[in-house]
Amino acid sequence: MIIFGWRVVFFTLTRGVFHCPDCGGDREYRRRYGRNFFTLFFIPVLPLNKTGGEFVECETCKGRWNVGVLEVPTSAQLAHMPAMLLRMAIAQVLRSGDYTNAAARERAVGVVRQAGDAAYDQAALDGDMGRPFDQVRAEMAHAASALAPEARERILSAAAEIALSDGPLSVSEEETLSAVGADLQLTRVQVTGVVSMARQSSGH
Ligand SMILES: [Zn+2]
Repeated sequence: MIIFGWRVVFFTLTRGVFHCPDCGGDREYRRRYGRNFFTLFFIPVLPLNKTGGEFVECETCKGRWNVGVLEVPTSAQLAHMPAMLLRMAIAQVLRSGDYTNAAARERAVGVVRQAGDAAYDQAALDGDMGRPFDQVRAEMAHAASALAPEARERILSAAAEIALSDGPLSVSEEETLSAVGADLQLTRVQVTGVVSMARQSSGH
């Protein structure tokens, strides 16, 4: 008797460290994809079509994510961001949405602290959100000019992630992300890319 069938075999493409949304911190990941195999006596012998797309699997919680999740800055990357720029970018975006959302506020404070501003708290966040928009914009543009494009993209990505933590982006959140992206001296194409990756990874 010949026993045949098919099953999915997973392949690992790369490994690295990412910010796992479920674990809430830096974790090892494997970037993988699945492929259907024809099996003979339960042994995969013939590769068939690929299943779905590539995904990122957390080594700790085994959660699976769209590859866009790799765009969310890790704690280690946040530690290399200028905390001041991050504060302003996040405060601008947060106040354009539901700034009372507890989860978004908590994440905002956590992200700025990881960037090295250990004393940052909810009161300081309120202070940042209350600052005149024009003043903040001028300061941001000045500070951003000293940074590499990747670092500026990551700052926008961190702000987008926080804006998305309470659900899909509102029109005003979207407009603010565009304005903050412009202040960070990113092109429209760069801004669109960063925001769409953040959307993908949040599922909104
Ligand atoms: Zn995890």
